Formats: sequence, structure tokens, C-alpha cells
Amino acid sequence: MIPAAFDYHRPTNMGDVIALLEQHGDDARVMAGGHSLIPMMKLRMAEIPHLIDLQDVQGLDGITIQNGRITLGALVTQHDLINHQELTESAPILREAALQIADPQVRYMGTVGGNVANGDPGNDMPGLMQCLDAQIALIGPGGPRSVAAREYYQAAYMTEREDDEVLTAISFDIPQGGYAYEKQKRKIGDYATAAAAVQIQKSAGQITSASIAMTNLSDVPIWSADAAAALVGTPCDELAVKAAVAAMLGDIDPVEDNRGPVAFKRHVAGIILARAIQRAWDRA
Ligand SMILES: Cc1cc2nc3c(=O)[nH]c(=O)nc-3n(C[C@H](O)[C@H](O)[C@H](O)COP(=O)(O)OP(=O)(O)OC[C@H]3O[C@@H](n4cnc5c(N)ncnc54)[C@H](O)[C@@H]3O)c2cc1C
Repeated sequence: MIPAAFDYHRPTNMGDVIALLEQHGDDARVMAGGHSLIPMMKLRMAEIPHLIDLQDVQGLDGITIQNGRITLGALVTQHDLINHQELTESAPILREAALQIADPQVRYMGTVGGNVANGDPGNDMPGLMQCLDAQIALIGPGGPRSVAAREYYQAAYMTEREDDEVLTAISFDIPQGGYAYEKQKRKIGDYATAAAAVQIQKSAGQITSASIAMTNLSDVPIWSADAAAALVGTPCDELAVKAAVAAMLGDIDPVEDNRGPVAFKRHVAGIILARAIQRAWDRA
């Protein structure tokens, strides 16, 4: 399908982006890789009279690893994540997750900022960023501010970001210990039926800290503090994994859709999480 007519803006600095957002209000939307927004416009599920392309705005495309902290500019693509060697050494879970998003064509264009900003429950990066306890940097007419990824998502496509704010970067401490990003999908290139991001640290044969987040099992990503707590202090035995899965199942709220009925999704979520915990433990 062909989208409705729109004006195309291509500013080169953030001041002009914000001025355009203020000027056009609800009629304007920024575009990064366009691989969520353009399909929505073509399907006429979104009508955007003023499209503001971020591609020429300076300073949004860097990956920095400094003083134990990783910062990803909003325009860093999933392809960039996969091919950045230092990043893969510092935070291998990013590469493991990005490789499970869509296909190479989508990953060349799709950005971390667009994936996180969007609020689509099917996107893989929001849960991952919650697992990593990331901070999301925003800028708007009132200046810059930062929101924790664990507090950013309110409902499907509704986030803490105001309409006239732009996501500029995402940052988090270099993760420690073992990791796993496990995703079940109907076919290559599909969104998750269920996905789990897990980071685990261990010492003397016991888990000392854990972080667990689930994707596409509610209208927002689910960071399950109770599931992580069920693992801490255990040798990651069958009992502990079962307790973590039970706690996670208490936090998610899947709905029936073309990926299956609720019971099936809960079953898949349990298997995916158990697998991810086991792999993260083995790598810790
Ligand atoms: C066939 C197909 C399969 C896919 N499968 C998956 C999948 O399995 N997992 C997955 O996670 N994703 C998947 N995607 C989505 C893809 O990863 C998207 O590209 C990504 O989610 C959005 O990034 P983008 O840069 O394309 O954002 P855009 O499409 O440009 O923007 C998406 C939304 O975010 C807003 N936005 C973008 N950047 C910013 C910013 N910096 N600040 C504020 N708002 C911003 C836009 O206004 C828009 O509302 C798939 C896409 C396709 C086409």
C-alpha cells in the first residue's frame, strides 16, 4: 500500500528536530531506520503529516565503552551491534539478541533508539535493556533527562517519552557474569512468541546476582524481580529454576493472538526462561 501524503523534513541538528516537533505537535513524528514506522504508514495504521528524518543529525550514531559503562547512540543499528567487536567482548548478550531480530535487511536499517523508543511489546531491545538496567537519555524543549528502562514502558506504544522528546542514547554498566538471550518465534524473521534475557553472576557454586526480563508476554516488557530473587543464593538446581519460572509466570500477562492461545504462550515462556537460565549459568 502507499502511505498518505506527508512533508519530509531532514534537519541536521537536534535543536531543529525539537523545534519541528514543537511546531507540528501530534502531526509530527521522528523517523530513525523507518522499519517500524514506514510499514505502519503504508498500512495506514499511522498517518504522519510531518516526518522528521533523524539520519543527518550529528552525534547519534556512536558506540562508546568507557569507565565500565556502555553508551549506544540512538541511531546505532542492529547490524552495528552485531559487528562491533569491543561491544561483543564487553556485552555479548547484545549481539546474541540482535542476531535474533528479523533478517539482515531489517537489521541494516533498524536502530536501537527506534526499537527502544517505540513501545512495541514485540520488540526485543526493551526487555534486554531492562535486564541490563539501562538508562534512556531523552531530550526535549525542557532539556535532557534520563529515565530507567525499567520505568519507561507504560502500555503498548505508550512510554514515559513526551511527544516532543527524542531518545538520544541508551547506557548501562558493562554486564558481568553469564548471559543468554533466548527467543521462540514461529519462523525466521518473526517477532517473539516469547523471549527471555538473563544475566547471572556466580561465586563458589552459587548465584550471587541475577536479572531476568521477558518479551512479548504482556503489553510491556516484564522485568521480573521475583524470578531473579528465586535464583539468588542457589546452585541453579532444578528446584531453583522451577521457582524462577513460577515467579516469572506470576508477572506476565499474555493475550491470545496469531502466535497462540494464552496457555501455549505461558508454556513457551517457561521453557524459554529455563533454557536461558541454564545457558547463562553455564557461561557464568
Ligand atoms: C519484517 C520485520 C520484522 C521485524 N522483526 C523484529 C523482531 O523480531 N524484533 C524486533 O525487535 N524488531 C523487529 N522488527 C522491527 C525493527 O527492528 C525496527 O526497525 C525497530 O524496531 C525500530 O527501529 P527503526 O529505527 O526502524 O525505527 P522507526 O521505524 O524509524 O521508528 C519507530 C518508532 O519509534 C520512534 N522513534 C524512532 N527513533 C526515535 C528516537 N530516537 N527518539 C524518539 N522516537 C523515536 C518513531 O517516531 C516511531 O514511532 C521487524 C521489522 C520488520 C520490518
